[in-house]
Amino acid sequence: MYAEVIVDIAHSNVDKIYEYSCGEGVVAGSRVKVPFGGRVVDGFVVGVSATSAYPPEKIKPVSFVYDEPPALVEECFFLMNELAARYRVPKAVCLRLFLPAEMRAGRVHEVYKKLVKPLDLGISLPKSAKKQAEFLQFLKGGEAEYTACCERFGRGAVNAVIEKGGAELLKVKINRTPASFGEGAEQPRQLTPAQRDAIDKIEGSPKTVHLIHGVTGSGKTEIYLNIISRALQQGKTAIFLVPEISLTPQMFSQLKRRFGEKAAILHSGLSAGERFDEWWRLRTGEARIAIGARSAIFSPLENIGAIIIDEEHDGSYFSESAPRYSTAEVAKMRARHNGCKLILGSATPSVETYSRAVSGEYNLITLTQRINGRPLPDITIADMRKEVKRGNSSSFSSALREELKDTLQSGNQAIIFLNRRGYSHTVICQDCGYALKCEHCDVALAYHSEEDCLKCHYCGAKYRLPRACPECGGLHLRYGGTGTQRVVSDLKKLFPSARILRMDNDTTSGKEGHYKILKEFGEKKADILVGTQMIAKGHDFPSVTLVGILDADMSLHFSDYRAGERTFQLITQVSGHSGRAGEAGKVVLQTFSPENYILRYAVGYDYAGFFKNEIALRKATGFPPFTLICRVMVTAADDAPALEALKGVYFGAEELRAKYPGEFIFLNKMHSPIKKIQGRVRYQVLMRLESGRLLPQIYDLAVKYSGADALVYVEENPVNLS
Ligand code: ADP
Ligand code: ZN
Repeated sequence: MYAEVIVDIAHSNVDKIYEYSCGEGVVAGSRVKVPFGGRVVDGFVVGVSATSAYPPEKIKPVSFVYDEPPALVEECFFLMNELAARYRVPKAVCLRLFLPAEMRAGRVHEVYKKLVKPLDLGISLPKSAKKQAEFLQFLKGGEAEYTACCERFGRGAVNAVIEKGGAELLKVKINRTPASFGEGAEQPRQLTPAQRDAIDKIEGSPKTVHLIHGVTGSGKTEIYLNIISRALQQGKTAIFLVPEISLTPQMFSQLKRRFGEKAAILHSGLSAGERFDEWWRLRTGEARIAIGARSAIFSPLENIGAIIIDEEHDGSYFSESAPRYSTAEVAKMRARHNGCKLILGSATPSVETYSRAVSGEYNLITLTQRINGRPLPDITIADMRKEVKRGNSSSFSSALREELKDTLQSGNQAIIFLNRRGYSHTVICQDCGYALKCEHCDVALAYHSEEDCLKCHYCGAKYRLPRACPECGGLHLRYGGTGTQRVVSDLKKLFPSARILRMDNDTTSGKEGHYKILKEFGEKKADILVGTQMIAKGHDFPSVTLVGILDADMSLHFSDYRAGERTFQLITQVSGHSGRAGEAGKVVLQTFSPENYILRYAVGYDYAGFFKNEIALRKATGFPPFTLICRVMVTAADDAPALEALKGVYFGAEELRAKYPGEFIFLNKMHSPIKKIQGRVRYQVLMRLESGRLLPQIYDLAVKYSGADALVYVEENPVNLS
């Protein structure tokens, strides 16, 4: 037999299939060790055949076969080819995505316990063997753990009985199942007519991709769980993806109560051993639902009946290391391959996804009401320009102070959300709310302290810092917003007896810290939770009836074409925390630009209106989804190799432009906005293209100039242009 092997080395020079001779046990999907260039390396078997085109003396034998069921499922080879072609990465790098990191490193192994199983309890024993007789007697009770038996009857006696055929020793695998999961079973809920209707529409449509656009609290989760149940009933499997930050113990326990052992959870908060065992439970079919963040799209499942991506708009669905894949794109590949449906869900779909839905490419399902007709919280806008004029320099408007007072008096809880992303980068006028913008691109400028200037991340234009606001002449230009600490100390002055929890990067060391704070707040051990983006999603706090959003406009002025989209998403998601259970909720939104159209639509929960406006703006200004922003990044330890690679990529792109002038809207090479990260210099070739037509050629350029001295990679519509 001959094995076709891909060696586990991430280099394009060895990105081929090598042949080795092997025994019968080796099949497609097996992991092996093979001799390679004077060493022995790990390899993946991608196929076996009875014959070889090479003369037998040229073929070396496989050195070692891992003693395990084949780790890779058939579909991996299909996806490997798709991904390698799409993102131009070596096949070995694609295959690694399908295996838990712990497995490749060889650091984690299965754990077993030994059991003694009774065989023939009538064996004859010498009279003197009292302990052995006692042990035989004991075995009438059935199987027992070997070590416990040895402690009780002595190892000699136990082994003697086994040797004489009275019992046999079994090795049984122990699953390290994460302990934090809830007990008890949960029955599916009776679906509401709206939920029923949504499922009927999904089932009745021939389309592969379905978008559930449902307001917060409209019961999307119950729809997902119902779809998963149906897949299981048909003997199939399912993948359920959520943003990493939503993988909370609350959510695990709900899924475990509903699906029990059939659900496996792949989560970075598990121990390596737990993750390894959960993964094998999926591979062997013992578990049939994979639940996890982005990387769980590579779960080793066969015969998939449904793939679900919750909070599909979330930025964490884009990989930030090679291959820089879009989870939805991989999910589509798998859905088509398995002939199953892909369900995307969100209260605030990304503009790109929603435009595909309105164009008819995706099946659009809209849920406009919360469960039980609960109202969406009322959002009030507080104009901070007026507060400044009145001499209020604290973080809180008078409206928010009043609402906080009422909430605390009634024994309810409040969340104060601080919009800190892109924090210190934009400059806004506190008198009129104007944010400094690029003359060519109509996006906010970013402040760069090392050069003390403003820059546009989309065209590289530089501007001097103005002393006064170009719009109103005001002198109160402000860099960034307030910090969480300042907010907490302001709150303490206003409400000395309130119990306050703070959640930001400083207070949440590791995932555990994050859960601990949420858990304490959920148990009502605090009255007010102050936090950043981390609290934006995924948690159900029934007693929260007030949400305050400070600096609502900060994200409006991100130096990013998606700034409006992000702001709408943030406001909607954060507001969704208020009034989820009994009492109606309220939201106070503080801003320096109260007339901004994004805020107006958010206050009215008018996604359709927001979308209509936003898509018209993108079309007029030539931004995605009408165009493609493509950045080729070059990083290196020194300037020389970086500039060399940069030149190569840039000239290559210029040649492309000469050949296809209509495709290029913008092409330039420059320093990246952040010039150095972790000692590596950063340069970029930035392009705005009419379409994705030239992407394969651009990826080729990146592969051509990437090497040991300079790392070159492509980003498509990057979430972050810094
Ligand atoms: P979404 O995911 O759309 O934000 P959830 O799935 O969290 O909404 O549902 C909101 C609330 O409604 C949850 O507390 C959930 O338990 C409850 N719920 C969902 N479906 C039903 C139903 N069919 N009957 C009763 N309660 C439901
Ligand atoms: Zn510009």
